Formats: sequence, C-alpha cells, structure tokens
Amino acid sequence: MEIINSCKINRLVELIGNSSRPVIVTHLKPDGDAMGSSIAMYHFLAMSGKKEARIVINDRYPKYLEFLFGEDTRKAIAIHSENAGEAAMAIQESDLIICLDFNAFHRTENLCIYLQESKAAKVLIDHHLNPDSESFDLVFSMTEVSSASELLYHVLMAMPLTGGDPATLPSEATAALMTGMTTDTNNFGNSVYPSTLKMASELLRAGVDRDAILNSIYNQHSENRLRLMGHMMKDLLKITDDGVAYIVLDKKTQDAYHIEEGDTEGFVNMPLSIANVKMSLLLKEDGDRIRVSIRSKRGTSANRCARLFFNGGGHENAAGGRLLIPENVASIEGAAEYIETYTHRYFTEGYED
Ligand code: 5GP
Ligand code: MN
Repeated sequence: MEIINSCKINRLVELIGNSSRPVIVTHLKPDGDAMGSSIAMYHFLAMSGKKEARIVINDRYPKYLEFLFGEDTRKAIAIHSENAGEAAMAIQESDLIICLDFNAFHRTENLCIYLQESKAAKVLIDHHLNPDSESFDLVFSMTEVSSASELLYHVLMAMPLTGGDPATLPSEATAALMTGMTTDTNNFGNSVYPSTLKMASELLRAGVDRDAILNSIYNQHSENRLRLMGHMMKDLLKITDDGVAYIVLDKKTQDAYHIEEGDTEGFVNMPLSIANVKMSLLLKEDGDRIRVSIRSKRGTSANRCARLFFNGGGHENAAGGRLLIPENVASIEGAAEYIETYTHRYFTEGYED
C-alpha cells in the first residue's frame, strides 16, 4: 500500500520507541471505528512496552462497544465529560499523541485546546477527507480505505514488531480492528476495497470470532430501539422533490423511547433504499445543538453538503455536522425548514458540479 511507505513506518517506530507516555485520542461521540482503532493501538503500544499508554476521549463510548474492553483498556481510558482534570492531565503529560479516526483537532471537542497547546509529537492515522496535516508531525491519511481501523491494520502490519502477522496481536486488538471496519462499512455494505477484504480475510485466519462480534454489534439492542426505528420510518421520514430524505428526531421522542447513544446508528442509511432518494439526513436534538448525519448515493456528495451547510464534513458519501441553536436555527422546530431550504439550494444552485 503506497501511503504506508517505509520512511513513515521508521518514523513511527522511532516516535513510539522514544515515548514513555503515549496518548491515543479519537473523535467526540466515539463510534465503533473510533474505539476499535483506539483499542487496537493501545494494545500495540502495550506490546511495544508502553504500559503507561492512555486513551483519552471527550465523552463516553456507546454501551454496545463495552465488549471490546478488557480490564487493562478500561483502566487506560480517561473521559473528559466524566473527569475533565484526568483527561487534560493525560494529554498535558504525554510525549506522543496518536490521533485516530478524525481529521482536525476540533473534532475532539473539549480536548482540542489541550491538543493545540501540547508540544508532544503528534501522529495522525485517519481516513477522512481534508486532513489538517499541518497540525501533525507524521500523517497516515488515506480515503480509499474502509475505516481508520483498516488503515491502522495496514500500518501495524508494516511495523517490524508484527512482521505482517496479525496473530502477533492480542485477540482483543484483532477483534477491535474487525469491529471498527465492520461498523464503518455497515457490515460490508459500503466503502469496501480490495484491501478491506484482505484485512478481513487475514483477521479471520488469525482467529477473530466474527460471529461473536456481529452478535455484539447487531443483536443486543433494546426493544425500544426497533420500535423507534418503526416510528421514524413510518411517521417522521420526509422526502423532498429533490430526492432528499430527512428525519428530525427531537429530544422528546428520544426520551419517550429511552434512546441511548449509538441506538440510532445505521438508521440514516435506510431511506437510501428508496429509488429516487439521492441523499438522506438524520437530525438529532442534542442540548444546544442538532447533530446531523448525512449519507448519499454515488454522484451526490454528502461531504460537500455537510461542509457547505451543516458545519461539518467527513467522507464523500457519509458525512456529518451540526446545526447550532440559535446561530443556524432558532430551535429544533426550525430544522425541517432549514434542511428543505439548503438542500434545495444544494441541488439547484450548481454545488454538485
Ligand atoms: P456519522 O453520521 O456516523 O456521525 O458520521 C459519518 C462520518 O462523518 C463519520 O466518518 C464521521 O467521523 C464523519 N463526521 C461526522 N461529523 C463530522 C464533522 O463535523 N466533520 C468531519 N470532518 N467529519 C465528520
Ligand atoms: Mn471512521
């Protein structure tokens, strides 16, 4: 794989070798790929003798990812929303910061300031468009991969310590990598490359229990989640004349169904199954902001729409962002009109070219 050139690998070996307190950071609202890549990196650092490694995140990962954690990884995590001092100090004391699955510091929300202030060496391993390469000493950035977990897998396999054999990694690490790739591809539904299948094949050969992973990811949800999905698709889904499907999920509805973080994962993809839908948006009220998930079919850029109108970005066909209250909309009630107005502009004013 071209991007994983040996100079960069040598530099990474050197940076890890010279560090005594490495810290792993990933994006806010961490998903399967964010946590999967972070946990795999943590185990690699431990294998490299870096027993002091920490994983620092802005806010807690969803419950369904709990199966990825062993005793060591659970102890290594610092969560800013639960213990701000511990998270800040871990970054301040760190001499190597490895950033996974995001392209710019602001994607870590409250950790951003500590990352900016830190003089530690910084490494980026990411698969999003438009990485802020200037902020890093070493960048592994590639968009033609399924996930940060996949890119990290290729990086780890190029490291002398593994010698290209995934069986040298502990089973927690290989399960974490398989999980991150599986959630970011929607279980091989999108963003699958030859290198993705190669990784999956090698991980299976190394003994990863994919059935157990699938069971943990997809078969452990609450009854409420499925009922909410029914309500969303039947009663809340709107489709515009431009082929934009959208759902606005207010706080009241989330509470009525006792929805937890991660419960609506994947719902935004469903309206793309409709023939004339080009793009699908899911908006979730979240305190003083509305979180936006965008998915698009080939030929329509979710990334561009997110960057232009939703204060975000991401990948070509899977992106996200936010609407701020009151800067963008007065309240959640204004979200539908905002979407209709700006997606109509997106499809009629030449932004697609
Ligand atoms: P999701 O809809 O699952 O939250 O996000 C879809 C994809 O877009 C993920 O890869 C996520 O990391 C990325 N993404 C979400 N929000 C943002 C954002 O504000 N900026 C950028 N650059 N990427 C985002
Ligand atoms: Mn990802």
